[in-house]
Amino acid sequence: MTPFTYDALPARVVFGSGTLRQLPVELTRLGCRRALVLSTPEQRGTAEMASTLLGAASVGVFAESAMHTPVAVTAVAMDYVERLGADSVMSVGGGSAIGLGKAIALRTDLAHIAVPTTYAGSEATPILGETDGGKKVTQRSLRVLPEVILYDVELTLTLPPGLTVTSGLNAVAHAVEALYAADANPVASMLAEQAIGLLGPALTAIIRDPSDTAARSDALYGAWACGTCLGLVGMSLHHKLCHVLGGLGLPHAPTHAVMLPYAVAYNAAAAPDAMRRVARALGASDAATGLFALARSLGAPLSLATLGMHSGDIAHAADLAVANPYPNPAPVTREGIRGLLDAAFHGRGPA
Ligand code: NAD
Repeated sequence: MTPFTYDALPARVVFGSGTLRQLPVELTRLGCRRALVLSTPEQRGTAEMASTLLGAASVGVFAESAMHTPVAVTAVAMDYVERLGADSVMSVGGGSAIGLGKAIALRTDLAHIAVPTTYAGSEATPILGETDGGKKVTQRSLRVLPEVILYDVELTLTLPPGLTVTSGLNAVAHAVEALYAADANPVASMLAEQAIGLLGPALTAIIRDPSDTAARSDALYGAWACGTCLGLVGMSLHHKLCHVLGGLGLPHAPTHAVMLPYAVAYNAAAAPDAMRRVARALGASDAATGLFALARSLGAPLSLATLGMHSGDIAHAADLAVANPYPNPAPVTREGIRGLLDAAFHGRGPA
């Protein structure tokens, strides 16, 4: 066994179908009686349903959360928290709603119940990325780790196929990078391999039939496992590149979906054991080409150009990626990253 260090993260996970109805019990268990329910504008209806279930234990709904947790939105939400005397927050939605719950918890230490409805995995991590004036600052703190994660498979049935695919591949990216992380450990690696093996077939089945609850259940469980990996170990080149591209305005989950096969190909020779495990989980002969084939079969976006990137940004993105690089199995060189970004821009497929 390779030497390792493992820091377990505290988490209570309630997983099932129809579990939203357990919300009042979970809130009482935390000793809370006044929750503010958070969502994006698009999911206000689901947030109002949660608020109704909570009855007198809900102080209201704040449905203004946005991608990348802008501090200006958090300031408005903080005003609601104080004015309404909330003693807890409950976020329902993807990483945007959960990010707002984390930002409030960071400022107040209020308890947070997260009800994830995408596969992004933020609910399982002590990580918060906030944006201010176009700049994203990421920090790690146990204060932002939600006290309870309540997974309700029924709430994921409405996730449109396009979002299902990109969000699912975003989750797969956490698992893949966990397998070659500088601080990899056997628990995260076991979860990672299991999650990749579940998500590939589950996403394929969901594209065929978005109401396939067994596949939705596997995908949501896989997303929890992937999010747990993201919380347990540090990420590498792929996440660094997606962070840089997100800063240039590219959308979060689709960028992950495009970039993963290229980052994996870049690291292939330097992380052979991780590559074997990814390929085995996918039932493919090679990790990078297996991931590319999966993305293509799911109808995922395949190039950065289709996401709206300009070719003139490739050199700038490469410069940003090599400045303060994350730990990575293969050496991160400007020329290497330029080549990788150029291939991903055109959607040429991993070398
Ligand atoms: P998102 O939360 O912005 O959701 C995308 C869209 O899907 C929104 O319009 C939302 O309302 C809608 N939606 C969500 N669930 C739905 C459902 N079940 N049915 C129909 N529509 C639904 O996107 P995301 O990809 O989940 O999260 C991205 C954000 O999360 C980014 O800001 C990213 O930085 C952050 N993130 C953070 C971490 C972390 O550990 N801190 C991890 C992953 C992602």
